[in-house]
Amino acid sequence: MAWDGVALLEREDATSGARILIAIHSEALGPATGGTRMKSYPDAEAARADAMRLAEGMTYKWAAAGFPRGGGKAVLAVPPDFRAGERPGLLRRYGAFMRELGGRFWTGADVGTSSGDMDVIAEEGAPYVFSRTPGNGGAGDSGTWTAIGVAASIEAACARLFGSRSLSGRRVVVQGAGSVGLPLIEILTAQGAEVEFGDVSPEAGRSLPPAVRRIGADEVYGRPCDVFAPCALGATLNAQTIPRLACRAVAGSANNQLSTAEDAERLAARGILYAPDFVVNAGGAVAITGIEALGWTRERAGREVRAIGETLDRVFDIAREAKITPDAAARRLAEERLTEASRVR
Ligand code: NAD
Repeated sequence: MAWDGVALLEREDATSGARILIAIHSEALGPATGGTRMKSYPDAEAARADAMRLAEGMTYKWAAAGFPRGGGKAVLAVPPDFRAGERPGLLRRYGAFMRELGGRFWTGADVGTSSGDMDVIAEEGAPYVFSRTPGNGGAGDSGTWTAIGVAASIEAACARLFGSRSLSGRRVVVQGAGSVGLPLIEILTAQGAEVEFGDVSPEAGRSLPPAVRRIGADEVYGRPCDVFAPCALGATLNAQTIPRLACRAVAGSANNQLSTAEDAERLAARGILYAPDFVVNAGGAVAITGIEALGWTRERAGREVRAIGETLDRVFDIAREAKITPDAAARRLAEERLTEASRVR
């Protein structure tokens, strides 16, 4: 895999059979910062490729958000038969590895890890660990912050399409009612939107009022609506799903929504406005890191996360002026900030 990152640091954890990978993609804007993902991979190469790809994504996320952090990501690649009893030890040894790096890499919760895991990592890895539980001095879960940024993004998409940020009467279909999708549905309905959602888990969205209609998990693509909000998995926008979409815009939290780079063009060709995922879903990372590293109040964090809507206004402007897709425009905005930072240094 071609990768223009700074370093891929790797350590075998002989005790648990896991492999610890820390990918540092860019330090141009600040110390590399990104979540810790824990999962099983088919082989070590797949784990390395995931860490590098995700770290690169973080570079663009921080840069597009104008936040002083660099791109990094950690992967704890565990064996398929990884036992729960091995978990605390692995997390502590990973924390010690992070501490050896002396602040070159900072982390928080991601897929497969929780705020509780961050508490354990911080036993050895503090102060380089974000999103611990509030009881342990952290800012806790990021899902609601991310949802606030997605709602601001949906408003920006509506402003572009309909000339108003108001969500009153707008129809939104949400894919996935998990840590981000659920608070997003609550925010949207509170603002007067008509929301439907689909989720593969029958338990998801149980707490929602009956006015929020549940539809089949596969029905979400073809459901007529103003905005489709993918908040479940990556690669859901692809050659099979894009022709089925019956929305005017896509704005959701899922990472890496476009299956291939051509999917941005496919959406544009169908006249669907795409709000780039790495701009839309930065809210959790920005709020948690801002509160814990920069001493922001929760009010300040809320303002900064809602400003994602204005960043998107700019992205859509660049796209229109340069006649490129919003995805290309967001990358251009991020690259300009990275180039500027390298010049200043
Ligand atoms: P989650 O695991 O809490 O929720 C995901 C939900 O999607 C679950 O309810 C699951 O049942 C459902 N789901 C899975 N497959 C589905 C499918 N095929 N169709 C419909 N529903 C499906 O995850 P989350 O934290 O809410 O994150 C959602 C997405 O947003 C992920 O892609 C994640 O990487 C991304 N993201 C999350 C955050 C955050 O702060 N949590 C930040 C940035 C990006």
